[in-house]
Amino acid sequence: MKIQVLEPHGFCAGVKGALERACKYPEAWCLHEIVHNELVVEKLKSRGMKFVESIDRIPSGETVIFSAHGVSPLVREEARKRNLKIVDATCPFVAKVHKDAKSFSDQGLEVVVVGNKGHAEVKGIVGEVPRAWVYPDLPPKGRKIGVVSQTTMNSDEVAEIVEKLRKDYEVVESAKVCNATKARQDAVKAFEGDLLLVLGSANSSNTKRLAEVARCKAIVAGTRKELEKIDMDGVELLGLTAGASTPEEFLVEALEFLKNKSTGKE
Ligand code: SF4
Repeated sequence: MKIQVLEPHGFCAGVKGALERACKYPEAWCLHEIVHNELVVEKLKSRGMKFVESIDRIPSGETVIFSAHGVSPLVREEARKRNLKIVDATCPFVAKVHKDAKSFSDQGLEVVVVGNKGHAEVKGIVGEVPRAWVYPDLPPKGRKIGVVSQTTMNSDEVAEIVEKLRKDYEVVESAKVCNATKARQDAVKAFEGDLLLVLGSANSSNTKRLAEVARCKAIVAGTRKELEKIDMDGVELLGLTAGASTPEEFLVEALEFLKNKSTGKE
């Protein structure tokens, strides 16, 4: 079995920045997973970081870390009311989407977000404006809309949706996925092999998208155990890629495992 490692891999700039900031406060309270990767979260937990889904769970006066996915202004306000010390680990690409959504709304446009309604990033963006529509929910036809996108969507799909919206609306848009997402997706779309192994957690949006955009069968593996369960019988060319929040050490470990497997040592 031949193994092709797709570029790029390792933490993206947004994840690196978020972790650098968070690691300065190892015993703080992190609102939501700092990034969607179980290996990263477990490591931080073992050093004393506490992860919660609601700001109400954080005792007054403590330090709160906002995850790379960003939060709404309401959550920031709540943190201030609770007298929490704020460490903001929001990725700058996400922060730009917030800024664009707010700017569209301030100009009187209806704001449309292309993204997954339940995702932390989308909740933060939606909270930035008095009213936002999460595609496929849309305002009445004919209106002027400002379109933004969750940073980790399928780049081709976002472009298609924007084009579709142009038929019924006057569209102003800044709907782009982030560079890290686009570069990984482009490499995956160009891969022609028998199986693509995507290293990353199942709740990571950019990881899931990599599996979705693959031209061949793709499987996501977040841990060594999951990796070991994958049936690679008959695979001649295996592609290996990783989500933007997957630690490089896991890719190195996976590569060693796969090489041993292909030579019959595993
Ligand atoms: S995947 Fe993109 S949006 Fe998410 S942290 Fe990395 S650079 Fe930021």
